[in-house]
Amino acid sequence: MKKGIHPEYYQAKVTCACGNSWTVGSTKKEISLDICSACHPFFTGKQKIVDTAGRVEKFRRKYGIKDKTTEVIDKKKKTKK
Ligand SMILES: [Zn+2]
Repeated sequence: MKKGIHPEYYQAKVTCACGNSWTVGSTKKEISLDICSACHPFFTGKQKIVDTAGRVEKFRRKYGIKDKTTEVIDKKKKTKK
């Protein structure tokens, strides 16, 4: 390999909003995801909404909808460190 033109290669730790984590080869040290293959609706068969401002919850409260089949991930809460 030619020197000075290639980026650093790391074994990056990937973390998902659902709590799932694994390592992958990447030029970044850390990767954080909102959705992964363990929690994506395509693989789980469950409907899911990534909610950033609590809008889904607000809508449900307003109309008194109690839907347990849909999982809502509150991005605001989960990304807080
Ligand atoms: Zn996930």
